[in-house]
Amino acid sequence: MADFTYELGTDGVAVITWDVPEKSMNVMSLEGFALLDSFIDKALADDAVKGVVITSGKPDFAGGMDLNVIAKMKEDAGAEPAKGLYEGVMQMHAVLRKIERAGMDPKTLKGGKPIAAALPGTALGIGLELPLSTHRIFAADNPKAKIGLPEIMVGIFPGAGGTTRLVRKMGAMVAAPFLLEGKLSDPKKAKAAGIIDEVVDDPVAAAKEWVLNAKDSDIVKPWDAKGYKMPGGAPYHPAGFMTFVGASAMVHGKTMGVYPAAKALLSAVYEGALVPFDQALSIEARWFTNVLMNPSSSAMIRSLFINKQALEKGANRPSVPDQTVKKVGVLGAGMMGAGIALVSALAGIQVVLIDAAQDAADRGKAYTEAYLDKGIARKKVTPEKKDAVLGLITATTDYAALECCDLIVEAVFEDPKVKADVTAKAEAVIPENAIFATNTSTLPITSLAKASKRPEQFIGIHFFSPVEKMLLVEIIKGRETGEVAVAKALDFVRQIKKTPIVVNDERFFYANRCIIPYINEGIRMVAEGVNPTLIENAAKMVGMPLGPLQLVDETSIDLGVKIAKATRAAMGEAYPDDAVDEVIFWMADQGRLGRKTKSGFYDYDEAGKRQGLSEVVTGHYPEATDQPDLHHVQHRLLMAQVLEAVRAFEAGVLEDIREGDVGAILGWGFAPWSGGPFSWLDIIGAGRAVEICDALEAQYGARFNAPALLRDIAAKGDGFYARFGGGQAAKAA
Ligand code: NAD
Repeated sequence: MADFTYELGTDGVAVITWDVPEKSMNVMSLEGFALLDSFIDKALADDAVKGVVITSGKPDFAGGMDLNVIAKMKEDAGAEPAKGLYEGVMQMHAVLRKIERAGMDPKTLKGGKPIAAALPGTALGIGLELPLSTHRIFAADNPKAKIGLPEIMVGIFPGAGGTTRLVRKMGAMVAAPFLLEGKLSDPKKAKAAGIIDEVVDDPVAAAKEWVLNAKDSDIVKPWDAKGYKMPGGAPYHPAGFMTFVGASAMVHGKTMGVYPAAKALLSAVYEGALVPFDQALSIEARWFTNVLMNPSSSAMIRSLFINKQALEKGANRPSVPDQTVKKVGVLGAGMMGAGIALVSALAGIQVVLIDAAQDAADRGKAYTEAYLDKGIARKKVTPEKKDAVLGLITATTDYAALECCDLIVEAVFEDPKVKADVTAKAEAVIPENAIFATNTSTLPITSLAKASKRPEQFIGIHFFSPVEKMLLVEIIKGRETGEVAVAKALDFVRQIKKTPIVVNDERFFYANRCIIPYINEGIRMVAEGVNPTLIENAAKMVGMPLGPLQLVDETSIDLGVKIAKATRAAMGEAYPDDAVDEVIFWMADQGRLGRKTKSGFYDYDEAGKRQGLSEVVTGHYPEATDQPDLHHVQHRLLMAQVLEAVRAFEAGVLEDIREGDVGAILGWGFAPWSGGPFSWLDIIGAGRAVEICDALEAQYGARFNAPALLRDIAAKGDGFYARFGGGQAAKAA
């Protein structure tokens, strides 16, 4: 079975049907594209063919290019990859341009065969770029279908003519959200925006009818007709000029210049708008090549798409039978418990939500109600759906209600005694084979498991706040945790549509282990007299979503104080963070606890809106006369996180660098352009990383000591992905 089939009807319409075998969604491969090309040739050459309809044999049209192919394009492009890539992309343009010209005489614009696209459902990426090259796009009236060009979300841009065609069709300003933000629309909205032409009940029938009745002039694209003017004005037009000045500033403001794709996209649009259509395609291909050559794009595709999906599909799941959760008991209906109940019920799982007092349990359930009410106000949720979801949650104080739960997620106070007490109470009721998970963020799983009768069925499932928004879930294996518990946790995370990483039990697990040193490094700099604005901007300019000082204001200074005290108690003499404590203990004494007290490293207005960095802080820690340079500050902030990631991997806390990279981006927003800490090290090279560490260590001490694994990779001229990219653990290597 091939990706496309060709069938000529008695009506003279050739129907090319896209239906990739053994896939629920069509994705384009290079072989598929070559086959499509041959069918177009066949149709254009056959006098019996009056026109062509391109459609899909599946409920959707296509999900896009197979990103595995894009990720490998550079590798496969030969000795001169940029040349190979550019030529490959231009070949693709040639095929789509052939569809667009459809055999017409380029001078008279006559004699071409009408070609239409019939989309039964979703059409994304090249799944829309192909229809955009046809003469008319018919979509089924399917409100669930998504139409758009989401390439920018994985660090590339529409490079098969989508950029050039959309801009020429609707103008740069109107096309901007679809190209720069990857905005998706349902068919009706896509028609209203001018992306597609018709929304009908039966797109194939409508497309055939159109094809059979189309005149020569119907199949000439505006940009191929005489006197074409770009909607909204080309860049040298006064209106166009304003668009591009604004767009440049907006893109830079949003990306801080670290995402190559957005900038390249804008360049392709600007430069392409100044020249005729075919030259514009060539410019688009050059910028697309430029993006594919940038290591950031392949690292982003690898982490944000390929590996994220592999983890969601259970790349590291033990091979035990299906552990789908039917009924979950959530202990503690506070901030986290309420969120866990919400995401579970949304996934259709029955929930028993327990708290010490009924009103607390009810408040926890009310969180789901408020969430659904917001959805109703935004027309995303129906009242029936609200009733159904709320009907799945039982809020109670009665542990007997846990009787049939196959999974418990405990989210009571962060206190080992309280946790031990609820563990015993729940285990007295739940079935023998139920799994008990704790959502603790700081207490070792292995020690909490001591309160359990069945430590092999005890595990950590660590959510991030707010639960309904954060995509990552960290699963933590205690020393005695068994495989069924791991599989149960993974199956639960799959049900609630989040991304899991599985780590071993050590202080702060993985995410917090890396994020705390980032915050601490920022705080140390304040104590040293580094300008706080420099600290915050340096972080954002390297792609961190929040500077370290804003982050600690959000999570609260008193939480930092609590963690510092507990860590000091556990580590004794070896405790390394006195300089940090000096600052946060002083802040806590001043009552500056962060956003919640409307004062922290930043000042806030009465409504809690962040104003600027506080002069109270710089009054106490005056700025030094000599300020470090931007890159130096960035190296400190990045290395503080990255070295912890490497140490976690070296120590076996993290067993798979793919989890380390995906977890860092989804868990705390680690510079997504880099593909994650391990990808970043591969981008700069282990040798350069060791140099940076050595210099930082000489100045600041052992916390920047390059781990032996990093030195070994540097010495052998190796890379993390070259050595461990297949999921190999450092300990086994
Ligand atoms: P919270 O204080 O908002 O909620 C705790 C809830 O547990 C309260 O409603 C309390 O009434 C209830 N509770 C206390 N003792 C109980 C008992 N004996 N029986 C039943 N219910 C009881 O706290 P939270 O922020 O939701 O945190 C809960 C857990 O999640 C903690 O272990 C915390 O470390 C962890 N966690 C928190 C975050 C976060 O960002 N807040 C993130 C990840 C993990």
